Amino acid sequence: MAVMITEECINCDSCVDECPAMAIVSADDSPLENGEFTYVKPEKCIECVDCTIPKCVDVCPTDGAIVWDMPYIEEFNEYFLEGQEKGIYKIRVHKKKGLLSPKVAPKPYRDSISIADREAHVLVNL
Ligand code: SF4
Ligand code: SF4
Repeated sequence: MAVMITEECINCDSCVDECPAMAIVSADDSPLENGEFTYVKPEKCIECVDCTIPKCVDVCPTDGAIVWDMPYIEEFNEYFLEGQEKGIYKIRVHKKKGLLSPKVAPKPYRDSISIADREAHVLVNL
């Protein structure tokens, strides 16, 4: 990822159209089995690296719905694959490239956010 959306989400969908990477889908379109909340596709999120504040966070009316997750880079390939097995993620399968895992399709991330904060899923409050 990237960022992830928690159960604090009230499904207002304000963030869906704001994402420059089209990484967010509403609960109704969630690829997760029984997905109850708006979902961030980790294989698409670019952490809004060119913006001061991530667009999704800028419009979110809650205080805790959007948190940091690990960078979507090769180093965390296993992390995301394990998450996929647990049903936390549903990473897209590309016709030619196969599963768009971090190893296959890494994404930009903010190196200013520590790995410890990402592991702890602290709030995105830039
Ligand atoms: S951080 Fe940016 S790219 Fe990632 S889900 Fe939020 S708006 Fe989309
Ligand atoms: S803006 Fe916040 S509360 Fe609304 S759908 Fe997105 S994450 Fe959920």
